[in-house]
Amino acid sequence: MRLGIISALSEEQQGLVEAMQSPYKLIHGQRTYWVGQLWEIDAVCVLSRIGKVAAAVTTTTLVEKFGVTHILFTGVAGSGDRSIKVGDIVVAESLVQHDMDASPLFPRFEVPLTGMTHFPADHHLGTRLLDAAYAFLENDFSDAIDPLEKAAFGLRQPRIHRGLIASGDQFVNDREHINGLNAALPGLVAVEMEGAAVAQVCHELNVPCAVIRTISDNANENAATDFLRFVKSVAAQYAFHIVRRFCQQTKVL
Ligand code: SAH
Repeated sequence: MRLGIISALSEEQQGLVEAMQSPYKLIHGQRTYWVGQLWEIDAVCVLSRIGKVAAAVTTTTLVEKFGVTHILFTGVAGSGDRSIKVGDIVVAESLVQHDMDASPLFPRFEVPLTGMTHFPADHHLGTRLLDAAYAFLENDFSDAIDPLEKAAFGLRQPRIHRGLIASGDQFVNDREHINGLNAALPGLVAVEMEGAAVAQVCHELNVPCAVIRTISDNANENAATDFLRFVKSVAAQYAFHIVRRFCQQTKVL
């Protein structure tokens, strides 16, 4: 196994790169790839930057140039459903590009000439990520997150959800928009800007992928408030401990 780990924001990646054993750095196509070992798993960490094209080219490079066999995307996302709260964790079952619309030539959301609206995430990898996320909440959450930050963001007992993640080249911060997506996409758990691009590339190149996101906002008018503070003080800790537990579990399998 050679694991490609993609993050969209540098705050989320930092702890992982610091934890790498004998890392070396390779710059290619305006991206910095960190190649090394994470908890004894061969790994390549990279920042995709934001958006579907950025994520697609990064994923392709990980597979074609770095020979990764599995891909993991960690990041933050807006809530896709009223029942899903800031601080909850979502794992993708499948992913859709919510801004893809070639209707009336093709059904809304269908990626033309693939016949697909939903691109699957790898079920087995997703289940292992879920296990890591449950272990994080049970064992690490209380110590890993500063109590002041927990209070500031109203984090009490975060929950974990598995379902549909929708990606598009928009930061969704409008109540009507998110409600419309929720109505059009049954099972929606989160909106973000990269996951479905990663899933399409992985589908086309036949590489298993998984996407895990910490809910940072409600995709409404307040979405941008404290966004970076949440990423730094909360989401970065989630990503670090979940990936650590994922690698440690994987090693003993
Ligand atoms: N205001 C932020 C914007 C970052 S873009 C800034 O100044 O840095 C948001 C990133 O987080 C993307 O990588 C996306 O995948 C994710 N994300 C979080 N909440 C989102 C939302 N409500 N809509 C779309 N993407 C969201």
